[in-house]
Amino acid sequence: MLIFRKPIEGVERPQMPADVVIVGGGPAGMACALRLAQLIDAHNSAHPGSQLSKENIYVLEKAREIGQHCLSGALLDPRSIRELLPDFEKDAPLDAKVVKEAVYFLTEKSKFKFPTTPPFLRDHGNYVISLNRFVKWLGAKVEATGITVFTGFAGSELLFDGDRVAGVRTDDKGVDKEGHQKSNFEPGYDLHAKVVILAEGPRGSLTKQLIQKFDLAKNANPQTYGVGVKELWEVPSGRIAAGEVIYTLGWPLTTHEYGGAWIYGSPGSSSKDNVVSLGYVTGLDYADPRLDPQRVLQDFKQHPFVAKLLEGGKMIRYGAKSMPYGGWWAIPPVAGNGWMILGDSAGFLNSARLKGIHLAIKSGMLAAETAFEALIKDDSSAATLSGFQKKVESSWIKEELWKVRNLHQGFEHGMYAGMFHTALQMITGGRGLRNRYPAKAGYEHMRKLAELPADGGAEAHLLGPAKGDGKLTFDKLTDLYHSGTKHEEDQPSHLVIHDTNICNTKCVKEFGSPCQNFCPANVYEMVEDATQPNGKRISLNPSNCVHCKTCDIADPYQIITWVPPEGGGGPNYDGM
Ligand SMILES: Cc1cc2nc3c(=O)[nH]c(=O)nc-3n(C[C@H](O)[C@H](O)[C@H](O)COP(=O)(O)OP(=O)(O)OC[C@H]3O[C@@H](n4cnc5c(N)ncnc54)[C@H](O)[C@@H]3O)c2cc1C
Ligand code: SF4
Repeated sequence: MLIFRKPIEGVERPQMPADVVIVGGGPAGMACALRLAQLIDAHNSAHPGSQLSKENIYVLEKAREIGQHCLSGALLDPRSIRELLPDFEKDAPLDAKVVKEAVYFLTEKSKFKFPTTPPFLRDHGNYVISLNRFVKWLGAKVEATGITVFTGFAGSELLFDGDRVAGVRTDDKGVDKEGHQKSNFEPGYDLHAKVVILAEGPRGSLTKQLIQKFDLAKNANPQTYGVGVKELWEVPSGRIAAGEVIYTLGWPLTTHEYGGAWIYGSPGSSSKDNVVSLGYVTGLDYADPRLDPQRVLQDFKQHPFVAKLLEGGKMIRYGAKSMPYGGWWAIPPVAGNGWMILGDSAGFLNSARLKGIHLAIKSGMLAAETAFEALIKDDSSAATLSGFQKKVESSWIKEELWKVRNLHQGFEHGMYAGMFHTALQMITGGRGLRNRYPAKAGYEHMRKLAELPADGGAEAHLLGPAKGDGKLTFDKLTDLYHSGTKHEEDQPSHLVIHDTNICNTKCVKEFGSPCQNFCPANVYEMVEDATQPNGKRISLNPSNCVHCKTCDIADPYQIITWVPPEGGGGPNYDGM
């Protein structure tokens, strides 16, 4: 029987008071902590008589080491990091300045170069980075200020005091597969905080609790997502310049799905211009439940243009992560009584540019300014923290996202309609046919097998698992091996399925168990079981999970909840 993870009841937990708890040490959380430290230091030197302490400010990060769960493209728009650290170029790990861009439309065998790069994909002035290394660098700066970063600690529950968010409970450690305490059991801490800041990245688990509890998304469009499946390759020198940026649209996706690929060149550790970051982002609003985003990347690499670039090279890392695509109208309120939401957790991502790092950093800075005001006034009520909402709305975050507020919704009816709407939106400052285009949640686009051609029709090449030739293309388990994923094996499943009967009786028949296809890490398997009405039963390999959150997002019955596993477990995204 499957046992699912939940905080152990009836144990005494260590209680810790805190001023500010930031959940998630990605670019948003780290920028927030650093800006808060800067403001406190400036205050303390100007007001020797009324010192503020940084001792009770904590960042919780579920990864064993800072940055280990951070995966991105990545191109950095330096706008916000320059505001945070004006001389960042001196010591930030920047792999290369962008020197060249191109955008292609791919068909199965050919490529067509866009005569000019669309304005939102112009990247001169941006840097190729590894987000993993960048966040490590930022995290070291946070730790140098005296703020404590607790690595290997996940926020597992929010603590409430009436309608106020009053703190965070961290994960219990040492719980076995059956949910019993082991000899090394350590209960999670209750951190009672004046201000709780959620910076958990896309589909944050505490953010989801908060949004559900207060029905925060009721006036927003449903958030929609894409999942980016990425590989890092070492190729023979000279194939791609460090700082060269290529975007592609089209093949292997058809005109019915939303998505595209990136290819970025970087120098590599030996400065031979031989490292390629490439990946394919598939919108999680496709119709065919048999579609497999990891296979989409494998198909993409077989395009002659990409295969030639990678020929003779070696895949060195693999990973996957979701990203929020919904844009401005899908952002819920981002502040309330005792809480603020930042970065991807809020939905601050510009999907037209495939960029969110600069917005995550900026939102972190604005939240820090608001938290600082709350500490000075000793008031973290909604009245004070709603200052963050106002700061976002009068900052360049809104200015940038407003121009693309309807972009993704324009593609709800496929690529041709999407291109028409995009062109119109570009002329009208993002408006298009109306100020706010509606949207459906991505999983609502998924069709039952009975409504689809049995052979997959135009999508046939995207369906089912990739076999892999072991050189250019890989099956999921081979790819997964390169993600360095590790978890404590003896713990309850952190993929919480609220009703496994639905998997075994309904989903298997109606949708053909799409979890087996959309999960990029082979976590979900339907195994033979003669006692079940359809002869199959859901089985889980939670230790494989790369924390991409796709299952929580794309499951058509919405019965899967991703909760953090025991802190420290997960992928190892060195260099990603
Ligand atoms: C495939 C892909 C390619 C991308 N390419 C680009 C690009 O080229 N340029 C760009 O600007 N943007 C890009 N983005 C988007 C960008 O990576 C994100 O917008 C950015 O990382 C968001 O930062 P964040 O701090 O909000 O979240 P994240 O980077 O996701 O960081 C969140 C952190 O919180 C931790 N965490 C989560 N939940 C908990 C919890 N409950 N307790 C403790 N810790 C927790 C995570 O381990 C992680 O370290 C890309 C995204 C993807 C997926
Ligand atoms: S189990 Fe869910 S979160 Fe984990 S890798 Fe699979 S789809 Fe992603």
